[in-house]
Amino acid sequence: MLKNLGYRLIAMVAGVLFAAVSYAGEPVSSQVIPLTAMPTVECPAHLSVGIAYNLDNPASFLYPEWSNQYVHKFDDVPFPDSLVIMMKDFCMPTDSTRITDKYGYRPRRTRVHYGLDVKVLTGDTIRSAFDGKVRISRYERRGYGHYLVIRHPNGLETVYAHLSKKLVKENQIVRAGEPIGLGGNTGRSTGSHLHFETRILGKPINPAFMFNFPEQCAETDVYVYRKADNKEVYYKVRSGDTLTRIAAKNETSVSAICKLNGISRNTILRVGQTLRVN
Ligand SMILES: [Zn+2]
Repeated sequence: MLKNLGYRLIAMVAGVLFAAVSYAGEPVSSQVIPLTAMPTVECPAHLSVGIAYNLDNPASFLYPEWSNQYVHKFDDVPFPDSLVIMMKDFCMPTDSTRITDKYGYRPRRTRVHYGLDVKVLTGDTIRSAFDGKVRISRYERRGYGHYLVIRHPNGLETVYAHLSKKLVKENQIVRAGEPIGLGGNTGRSTGSHLHFETRILGKPINPAFMFNFPEQCAETDVYVYRKADNKEVYYKVRSGDTLTRIAAKNETSVSAICKLNGISRNTILRVGQTLRVN
């Protein structure tokens, strides 16, 4: 309903402009098309909310260049203090509802998991989360396996990894819900699953803030990213460290560290283990 109203408004504005141009540029006797007779123009819904919607160079307001090179290296680009990510017209990348590994630090390993793992079978259809343009379509034997990175007009980049097959090429424009690959078990993966990441300017954001796989819906209509809320800081445990010492070093509390990492005060720390401290 609102969308239709948006189209109508755009068509009306276009009509007024067209009429004005016709009127100014032609003799008075020339026929001016009445507004009601103007054909309705099909515009992308995003125009109605004022977001530049350019699939050739998506989110150019945020990313200074289009490059097929790195997944998450945007060193010299200033990060905005906040960014509004519209979840409008999204599509769940898979209809699987089973999360097999969450985003964040995993106590049983010493590294951080920058995506969500969703159970899929080899050959299952994987779909683009939004309209966008494929930035990277590559194979990485020791990591992502067959993987895709898609940049979307809302500023988000989505990563789909461990695919058995990629169905799209770099620089290809895709639509929300379009099949882009097939589920698999390639790269550093044990058991077929989709490793799904959401990033802004290369910075990982927990996909669960936006995508609710168990319920197969968007977690929110609009996700507001605030730099101040999301400053994640990690610390590598050294010999002789205790939780109290780590908390003091990082100007935080033992209970805050326990909460962030899902551990208790009595958890034994290992040298080399990574802890999130903010
Ligand atoms: Zn994963």
